[in-house]
Formats: sequence, structure tokens, C-alpha cells
Amino acid sequence: MANTVPDISLNDGNTIPQLGFGVYQIEPKDTAEAVGRALEIGYRHIDTAEMYGNEAEVGEAVRASGLDRGEVFVTSKLNNGFHRPQDARRAFESTLSALKMDYVDLFLIHWPLPTRYDGDFVSTWKTLEEFQRDGRARSIGVSNFQVPHLERLAAEADVVPAVNQIEVHPYLTNEQVRAYGSEHNILTEAWSPIAQGRVLDDPTIVDVAEQVGRTPAQVVLRWHVQRGDIVFPKSTTPKRIEENFQLFDFTLDDTAMERISRLDKGEAGRTGPSPDEFDYIPA
Ligand code: NAD
Repeated sequence: MANTVPDISLNDGNTIPQLGFGVYQIEPKDTAEAVGRALEIGYRHIDTAEMYGNEAEVGEAVRASGLDRGEVFVTSKLNNGFHRPQDARRAFESTLSALKMDYVDLFLIHWPLPTRYDGDFVSTWKTLEEFQRDGRARSIGVSNFQVPHLERLAAEADVVPAVNQIEVHPYLTNEQVRAYGSEHNILTEAWSPIAQGRVLDDPTIVDVAEQVGRTPAQVVLRWHVQRGDIVFPKSTTPKRIEENFQLFDFTLDDTAMERISRLDKGEAGRTGPSPDEFDYIPA
């Protein structure tokens, strides 16, 4: 079986590689090297954000790779401090100039911040609709949106988000939000897909890994892939960046899939903040 990353169709007609490379918590000084390594290995999808502080280095690595811009799918996200439409327009311009790109493949509202901005993430979303109309964001989506947030966009906005990027891993399978997505043609992107390493020594994961002759990280990432979600594990270790790319030359059977899904701890399994309460705005 060849290790080829599938392209998945988005609801706007564009496609996205199902496996990418995440750069959250990679220091700017280490980012270009890590992204460069990932592109050499074959990753063609990079997930960054204004709040990660490393957009410039992502752009630098894409240019240094020698690949055409059109061969690499680049996602960035709006800083929590800039939800007001005028601020969002300026922030989006800064993202493009940091990346030194004239478009991003995907631009997301990073967090809904329902307790900020008078609870108004709809005008922020409508501003992203402008970026898509003018071609500077090929696709637009949201991140950390809960079902009521998505329902509100459906009622008050024109464009259905192409993706919702949410925390998903075996300890937080996040089924309700995923189910809303699949019913409404919104793809789920699973962030912290290996729960920042926390699920890797779980006895069930270790057991499945031994059965299929793969590493725990590969088994967990493969579980996501077979559920149809998009993943972009993060690592700065070349061996792990390579390991996390080898997901398409083996499969998990239904029993293994089911055993992993049963590890769900619901809200107790969350590693990040609750999107209903998170209100962080960078200084
Ligand atoms: P992750 O689940 O990808 O785990 C990363 C950590 O796991 C690494 O720091 C490393 O220590 C370890 N690791 C990676 N590969 C390994 C391997 N093969 N073997 C053993 N250990 C390994 O966590 P993440 O970085 O939080 O999430 C991935 C990406 O998701 C981020 O880089 C970012 O792009 C995105 N993200 C988005 C949000 C959001 O709010 N939208 C939040 C967090 C993360």
C-alpha cells in the first residue's frame, strides 16, 4: 500500500490534504527548519495562526522548499484580539504580509469568545466572508465552535464554514460537535490529535500498536484518519515528523477502532480550555 495523503473535498469545492503539520508552540527560531523538514518528507499542508507568532517563518520555509505556492495548503487563524471587523481586516492583511503570500488556503476564526465582543462572532464571520469573496482566503472556517455557535452562524450568515477545528483525540472524542459537522457538510479538523502525547502510553493504545506493528502515535493518528477527520500533529523531532507521516500504508480493523473510541472521557478528557468560557486576548 503506497503512503499517499488523500485530498478531501471541502463544501466550497476546494480540497485539503487530510494530513498536515501543526506549528503551535514551535519557537519562531525553530519553525523554518521544522516546516522545511516536513515539506521534504512530503507534508503539503501547514497549520499556523497569528497567535503562534511564527507565520513569517512558515512562509519562509514554504519559499525555501522550492515547491510552488499552489502545492502547499496553508492555514492561518485570526488573533483573539481582532474580532471587530476593522481589526479583523487589518489582522488578515498582517497575516498575508507575514507569510509574504497573496492568499491563504484557509483562514479561521481561532476561538468564538462568546463572552467577549458582546457575544458577536457573526460580524467577525461576515468579515471572513469578504476575504473569501476577494480571493485572499480560498476557504474560510472556524475553530473551537460549539454546536450553538455553529447554529447561530447557520441562522445569521450566508457561508457555511468549510471546517471546524476542534480538540479531538481518544480522551475527548467530541462526538456531538463532529456529528453537527457531518450533518452540515463542515469538515472536522482534530487539534491536539495525540493529546500532546498524553494518550501514547494508554494500555489500549499500546496494545493496538503492538498488534499492528506500528507506534502508538501512528495508531492514534490513523484512528483519526479512518474517522474522516483532518489532522496536523506537531513535532520538532525529525524522526517523529517522519513517523507521523506514515499513516496511509496500514489500517485498523473495526475492533481496534471501537476500542480506541471507548477511551473517551468526555469533558474530563479535555486538555485545552472550554470554548464556552475561553476569553484570552493577547496583551
Ligand atoms: P499534538 O497532539 O500534535 O502533540 C504534539 C506533542 O506530541 C509534541 O510536542 C511532541 O511532544 C509529541 N509528539 C509528536 N509526535 C510524536 C510521536 N510520534 N511520538 C511521541 N510523541 C510525539 O498537539 P498540538 O501541537 O497541541 O496540536 C497539533 C496542532 O493542532 C497544533 O500544532 C496546531 O496547529 C493545532 N492546534 C490548534 C488549536 C486551536 O485552538 N485551533 C489548539 C491547539 C493546537
